[in-house]
Amino acid sequence: MTHHSKLYQRLMNSREWRETRTSKLQRNPLCEEHYKVGKYVAASVVHHIIEVESGRTEQECRRLCFDPNNLESLCRECHAEIHRARGYHTMAAHQQRARERLKQWVSRLRAPDASG
Ligand SMILES: [Zn+2]
Ligand SMILES: [Zn+2]
Repeated sequence: MTHHSKLYQRLMNSREWRETRTSKLQRNPLCEEHYKVGKYVAASVVHHIIEVESGRTEQECRRLCFDPNNLESLCRECHAEIHRARGYHTMAAHQQRARERLKQWVSRLRAPDASG
């Protein structure tokens, strides 16, 4: 993850990303989330629909970063909202996994010892 974060920083600071971002905002100058509900708000952020850091290899991360189909023009408000929701889901998923592990642990405690 640390290695991925460094890569992400590097990608975000690259000229290629600045150009990708600029051309995306030129193509879609309006917030795409607001647009879906018929509102016209200027976009100022280019968001990655699938997180760049979810790539398993550097190549995948680069693809996710620059793929035009993985980009969304958003206003700051919608961008913050998406990331809040994402954080929430991640936390919920994390708690769900923790509960599953606890259940397995408890059931192992209750299971009769096969070795006698
Ligand atoms: Zn984003
Ligand atoms: Zn918006």
